[in-house]
Amino acid sequence: MDPMNFLRRRLFVPIWVAKDRSPRLKYMRQLERSQYFDLERLRELQFSKLKRMLKYAYENTHYYREIFQEAGIDPARIQDEADFKKIPVLKKAHLRRHHQRFVSDPYRDKRLVPFKTGGSTGQPVIVLKDFETIELGVAAAYRSFKWAGWRIGEPMGRVWGNPPSKSTIKAKLRNLLIDPEIFLDTMRIEEKEILDFVKKWKKFKPTVLHGHSHSIFIFASFCEEKGIEDITPKGIVSTSMMLMPRERTVIERVFNCKVTDFYGSEEVGLIACQCENHKGMHLNMENVYVELVNMEGKDVTPGEMGTVLVTSLINKAMPLIRYQIGDMAIPSRETCGCGRGLACIEKVTGRVADFLVRKNGSLVAGVSLVERTLTAYPGISQMQLVQEDIDNLIVRIVRSSEYKSETGKLLTNELKNSVGPDINVHLAFVERIAPGPSGKYRFSISKVPNPYMNF
Ligand SMILES: [Zn+2]
Repeated sequence: MDPMNFLRRRLFVPIWVAKDRSPRLKYMRQLERSQYFDLERLRELQFSKLKRMLKYAYENTHYYREIFQEAGIDPARIQDEADFKKIPVLKKAHLRRHHQRFVSDPYRDKRLVPFKTGGSTGQPVIVLKDFETIELGVAAAYRSFKWAGWRIGEPMGRVWGNPPSKSTIKAKLRNLLIDPEIFLDTMRIEEKEILDFVKKWKKFKPTVLHGHSHSIFIFASFCEEKGIEDITPKGIVSTSMMLMPRERTVIERVFNCKVTDFYGSEEVGLIACQCENHKGMHLNMENVYVELVNMEGKDVTPGEMGTVLVTSLINKAMPLIRYQIGDMAIPSRETCGCGRGLACIEKVTGRVADFLVRKNGSLVAGVSLVERTLTAYPGISQMQLVQEDIDNLIVRIVRSSEYKSETGKLLTNELKNSVGPDINVHLAFVERIAPGPSGKYRFSISKVPNPYMNF
């Protein structure tokens, strides 16, 4: 083992944690134990945490006191999931509008840290967290990074948008002794920056490469093209919701290790992650209560797609209950087999707003459509679908030298077949498709409201 990694794990991290009175290591030890509890015990544990959070939210926040009273719900009487599901779903618009009413009374004067969503599907949402919630979130993320091959004290390579600046002495010291990480900024993913990142990689030797899936793919493609063989992580953690299969193949081939899918959000932190078996994603049951529901608000069955509702079990500063986070996912048909009791979802299928809408109201998974057409027709190196309204679909295309006018015709026909013969397909040739403000790429954007936005 690298002596510096050993010193960090055994000495610097524990000292820092004790100085800050951080619960992260203690909580991580608890999480490493509880992941092996059987599912029934985990569910009981989770439900008792949930009941405590409901009672707390009712007693300490203006918003939930009013909502519960209006709906005639007494949190002390919630005994099972059916009772819990009587609580109305919380929409992003509500959270934005009544933001201050979600902050609980005991935390109003405390120092809280804002966590802001990228806002790529509308205006951003801000969730406030206290120190303890942040640390508990870090512990859960640590547990999942460990599944991908990382250990406390080891450096991490991150491919990320707008990386934090570490200009103060304290931040630099912390980066050296506690959380060593090097960054490749996804907003400036050019040759010079990539080579600079490779140079840093050789020096710091991160164990895990972590970042937005498509940006990791761009990095992997660059390394393959230039014959760079120095990037040898034990694992890759991809945080983007949909990693296209062909991109996964390239990343795994170039870096010679598996990609771990990690699903998290600014609002509630880690939601689910693959373990070393890479079958389904284990839910972070100790921190978040997750429901996957259909348009009527009923639980979907395994294999069926539903919209994701989350309830934080740890954030008392700003409780979020049955919050519709804006993603779609599918519950698992099978158990993972690794021995962990944590329930699994099969996969996250995209954002609600990624789905194109047909005239009859049915949905088309835009990202899957991009994947299918990209591989079917030569000459398209990148593509983005933007459904402007129910009648118009703009296809932004980055062409390669193999592009022929025939490609455009075939692509148009394929899109009309999938979305509907009446849709007007407009091809727009562009130099590049840039990431959004948070550094994440989106390959399908629908501006047409779909039923999941209004249920
Ligand atoms: Zn597993």
